[in-house]
Order: sequence, then structure tokens, then C-alpha cells
Amino acid sequence: MANILIIDDEEAVRDSCSHVLIKENYSVETAGDGETGLNKLKEIKADLALVDLKMPGLGGIEVLKKIRDIDPDIITIVITGFATIDSAVESMKEGAYDFLPKPFNPDELRFIVRRGLEKRKLALEAAALREEKKRIEDNFITLVTHELRTPLADIQQYFEVILGGITGEVAIRQRKILEKVRERIDTLLKLINDWLDMTRIKAGEFVGNFEPVNISSILTEVINYIQPQAELKKITLKIDSSINLNKIMGDKKSLKMMFTNLISNGIKFNHEGGSVLVKVKEHENDIIVEISDTGIGILKEDLPFIFDEFFRVKSDKTRHINGTGLGLSIVKKIAEMHSASIKVESELGKGSTFYINLPKLKKESIL
Ligand code: ADP
Repeated sequence: MANILIIDDEEAVRDSCSHVLIKENYSVETAGDGETGLNKLKEIKADLALVDLKMPGLGGIEVLKKIRDIDPDIITIVITGFATIDSAVESMKEGAYDFLPKPFNPDELRFIVRRGLEKRKLALEAAALREEKKRIEDNFITLVTHELRTPLADIQQYFEVILGGITGEVAIRQRKILEKVRERIDTLLKLINDWLDMTRIKAGEFVGNFEPVNISSILTEVINYIQPQAELKKITLKIDSSINLNKIMGDKKSLKMMFTNLISNGIKFNHEGGSVLVKVKEHENDIIVEISDTGIGILKEDLPFIFDEFFRVKSDKTRHINGTGLGLSIVKKIAEMHSASIKVESELGKGSTFYINLPKLKKESIL
């Protein structure tokens, strides 16, 4: 049963409205002034309030504001004896659902209340669905993390032990198969980790700790970390930067993730013996990080899609390269959170350059 509150200083209005609404099977309470009304509203958990605009003491507009603060989903209908455009506009601005000019008849009252309560029902249903969706998402993250990632990481560890020869010699044919399995598990783990990162970034949990950042030292750290991956493919990986100040505001952890993804791609989608060059340039208002590779390049038609979630170019050249298609969408999200823009230039067969424009820190400070 819906709870309705009537806040009006005129006893006759309170009584007549109550009479009509009780007959409709609503639970009705009344208050003769704004202050009492607000207290009752919380007490009875009102779904809908009829509020007189002109009352002594706390006026109708004030009451509307306070109701909105208590619960923006409570439907408020303004009763007014002076239905001017101005008062209507003002009430609507304060969140009133509709208004009822005096004098009104029982049918008008019944109609407007019924419609208001229908809206309230829909709003509550939508909120419940949002809540349910969030709960499922939260549980799903926990499920993915604990039920999938943890055992997969364990399995990977066992394979390392077997392939490392710790449990005895492994025959060549067995080794080949086990290495393939290990590779698949790596891909699965990467997918899970990327997906979890993406979810955290979307939920705003990831990019949190903004501070002045020395972009060159972040890049050097990332490059040192990726160097072994480059060496495996005999790729020259270098940085060219003369900027040694705190030049941008950023979150170190996510910036590292962004550059790791971009530089790893430069290696992954490169030929053996190729190169990846990272340049840091300073412009008047921006720091531009350029990541160029001599790799396979990207077809012009594919360029608009490379930042989409799960997009991967399908070609003979990429078929054997592992990936999730989430790396660049993570890059895009992190760039957005740093108010940075990204540009890509690429030529098929020649290579690609990714440009990240990060807004420069206004006041410089030396690390
Ligand atoms: P993943 O690397 O996991 O496949 P990304 O989201 O990082 O996913 O990249 C999406 C796609 O864009 C890649 O699959 C690849 O086809 C293309 N791509 C990204 N970076 C490069 C690059 N440096 N050179 C060539 N192709 C690239």
C-alpha cells in the first residue's frame, strides 16, 4: 500500500484530500506545516507528498528542496492557489513531479496521484534492477578472480615445475605439448587480468592516486621491464627523452600500464630484428609521448576500431600473435582519465606510431 503525505496549512484541503485518497486504499497522513511534514515524511517512508506552495513558516519550495535531499525518488505534487508559470517552473526545478491548481476536483486528485505513484513504482523498479546488476557484477568479479584466476595461476606454476625438469626429464614430444598448454594458459590468464583491469578502470577504482609524475622515469621503468620481451625477438627498444622534471599530473600505476600495453604491442606486432623507439617531447601545454615501431602496421580501414573492446585485426600476419583485444581499450580509458588524447599513424608493412598528448603540469617541480 502506498504511503501518501499531505502537507497543507488549510484543514479543509487536508481533510478533503485524505477522504478521497483513503477511499482509494492509500495510507494517508497529514501535516499542517512544512516542519511537521518533513518529520512525518521520514517516519512513514512516504512514496508521494502533496505539498501546498503557500504556507506560513517553511514555504512549499523549501519543503520540496528538503524532500529531494531526503529521497530524490519521493514523488512531490505541488498544490497551489496561484498557478502562475513562475511558481510552476520554480517547483519543477526543485524536483516537483507535477502540480494541482486549486480548486481541484476528486477525479483530478485521484488521476495525478495514481500517475505519480506509477512513476515512483517504475523508479523503484529501475533502482532495484541497478542494484541487482551491480551485485551480480561484483560477485562476478570475485568469481573470476578467485575461482578462475587463482587455480589457473597454480596450474601455470605446476607446468613451470614440470617444464623446468624438476620432477624428472621431459621427453621432447611431451615438452612440445606441455609448452603449447602453458601458452594457452598464459593467454587465458592475460584475458582474465585484462578483463579485471578493465572492470576496475571502468568502476573508477584503478586510476586513483594523482601526483606530479616524471614521465621519463616511468617510461624507463617500463622499458627495463619489457626489455627481455624485446630481446627474445631481437628488437631494439630505446627511449629518447630529455625531460627530467615532474611534467604531468598522473597516476603512476595506470600510466605504467598504459605504456606497457603500447610498447608491448610495438614488440608483438613487429618483425624479428625490428625496433621500437619511445620519444618524449615537450610542447607549450603538453608532453607528447611517441611510440614508434617498425612492425606490420595497421590497415587504414581497421584504424577506427583498434581502441574498441575485444577488437583484433584478423590477418595472416596477426593470426599467430596472442592477445585479448583489450589492451588498447585499457590504454584509451587511462588516457581519458588523464585528459590525454591519442593519435595513431600507421602504414601497412612499415610500422605504426602512437602519440599520447598529456597536459603539462602548470607549476613545475624537480624530483
Ligand atoms: P591485443 O594486443 O591484445 O590484440 P590491443 O587492444 O592491444 O589488443 O590491440 C588491438 C589490435 O590492434 C591488435 O590485435 C592489433 O591487431 C592492432 N595493433 C595494436 N597495436 C599495434 C601495433 N603497434 N602494430 C600493429 N597492430 C597493432
